[in-house]
This record gives sequence, C-alpha cells and structure tokens, in this order.
Amino acid sequence: MDQRRQALEHALLRAARSGGLTRDAARSVAADVCRYDGGGGEMHVKELLAQLSDRDQGRVRRIVSALRRIDDGSYGTCDKCGSKIDENRLDLMPETTTCRACAD
Ligand SMILES: [Zn+2]
Repeated sequence: MDQRRQALEHALLRAARSGGLTRDAARSVAADVCRYDGGGGEMHVKELLAQLSDRDQGRVRRIVSALRRIDDGSYGTCDKCGSKIDENRLDLMPETTTCRACAD
C-alpha cells in the first residue's frame, strides 16, 4: 500500500504542477493535503488550490480521497459494485474509485 500512497502523492504533485503552481507551492499542497488533518495548513492549501482550474482541482480532490481510502482500508474496492479493482487499472489511474466495468 505504501507504493500506492507514493504514486498518489506523486500524482498529486504532478496535478498541482500542471495546473500552474510553482514547485514549492505544489509541494506545499501535496504535503498539506497528504496530512489532510484539517489543521493549520488547510486555509493555505485552499488558496493554492483555488489557483487551479476546475479540472485540476477535481483531480487533486480525487487523489486526496484515494489517500483517505488507503487509510480507511477501502482503497482498491469499486464504489459501485464492491468488487476489487484490477491492479493494472490502479497502476494507470491510482485515484480511480470504480472498476473497469462500472466506469463505462
Ligand atoms: Zn464495479
């Protein structure tokens, strides 16, 4: 699972960077949302995220929610049918919440 977490954190960094944030800003978003404890960093992260397009913000949110699912143990399980999501699919789209069949 640590590998998945790392992949998600990298995806988060990439999404923030491709959304136009500086490397430092992207790092700070990744560091803060990966703690996602609603603590002091939250406000700052919201401001940084507000600079991203809706599409990039959506991606960041999906990644953060995937990190939460790793913590609560539901990661890798399809939201719709409850079956296990294919490992290859998770490799390609670590933030996905549905199996291939349910994605269509
Ligand atoms: Zn499914």
